[in-house]
Amino acid sequence: MVKEPTFDNAMAFAADLIAIPGLSGEEGDVARCVFQEMVAVGLEDVRVDDAGNVIGVARGCGDAPAAMLSCHLDVVAEGDHSEWEVPPFSGEVSDGFLHGRGAMDIKGPLALQTYVAASMKGEAPGDVIVAHTVYEERGGLGMKHLLESGDVKPGVVIIGESTHGDICIGHRGRAELEVVMTGVAGHASAPERAANALDLLSDVLLAVRDLAASQESDEVLGAASLIATMVDVLPQSRNVIPDQAIVALDWRILPHDDHESLVKRVREAIESRIQSVPDALAYEVRMATERQVTYTGIVADRNLFTPGFLMDLSHPVVGAAARAVGQRGAADEAAEVRPWTFATDGGWSRGVHGIPTIGFAPGEERFAHTNRERLLVEEARWGFERYPGLISSVQTALN
Ligand SMILES: [Zn+2]
Repeated sequence: MVKEPTFDNAMAFAADLIAIPGLSGEEGDVARCVFQEMVAVGLEDVRVDDAGNVIGVARGCGDAPAAMLSCHLDVVAEGDHSEWEVPPFSGEVSDGFLHGRGAMDIKGPLALQTYVAASMKGEAPGDVIVAHTVYEERGGLGMKHLLESGDVKPGVVIIGESTHGDICIGHRGRAELEVVMTGVAGHASAPERAANALDLLSDVLLAVRDLAASQESDEVLGAASLIATMVDVLPQSRNVIPDQAIVALDWRILPHDDHESLVKRVREAIESRIQSVPDALAYEVRMATERQVTYTGIVADRNLFTPGFLMDLSHPVVGAAARAVGQRGAADEAAEVRPWTFATDGGWSRGVHGIPTIGFAPGEERFAHTNRERLLVEEARWGFERYPGLISSVQTALN
């Protein structure tokens, strides 16, 4: 028996999902629940890909480009349970809000998108793909894999990160780099037999400050920003001269920045501070990496790089989306169009693959990743009701 794709059923599904923990790399139980629900609500071709993304399709009635609705399966850690007003995995509804880790980031919107797609079976101008991804909270391995695999070919992507009902059209990206300085370790009592990796530190930090002072700015997204966030030394001992010192850099980047150019710019900034490196010392600039293992067993040593993106305000999809959604309480007024403050999987779909991408979802960004995470049920209902018109109009705008 097919479940009715109603708002109330979608919210019940969201509450069920909140009860299932699942950090990045541990999304298996959430994925199984999403898979079963996609089948139950009548989506077709429901499947799990190699990386563990869950995908289903609602066939449309025409040949307009496919729209892909996308949320992610992972959540961030809930922290100390005693700091929450309601238990983080309760999925409790009180005071008009759905509460818990993932309520708005992103299990509430995930449930809404899944049910909206099912409700449009045979009615949307083109196919509606639903693809919920793994590892979004750690840079988007899931979305990267999904789009590179060619498994789906969307004409437009709608990301379900909270927008509080606005249309979001981009964000800055994030890159983590390292400057690794090396020397020769030795006893602190005999510096003449060692080469202190820390001797390069002050010039490296000054170079980072030089570079940070000359960041580019974008009219919509604001300025890129670069800052040194951590210094590590090895060996870690107060009476040993270290042979390695590492400075970590956090860089909030603009859409056209790629990792080769970021590494090059840091290297050049250091070169203009350090004309000649003393014998026995050296330094290297590189992207920071992290080993990521999906719950399906894929292992990837990944650069910590999330691309940014920005849709042109004049792109037909942007105007069509803003008019279709309207404003809550003033449907005749076009929705507000703005960037997100945080990064999303849209950096992959638009920034790397060039697919028109926008965001629309209920929920206030300020509750994301906090112990007060919540989703206003009435706002979620409004979003659920606006979604079909949004999908139809962006598909039509591309046709
Ligand atoms: Zn999210």
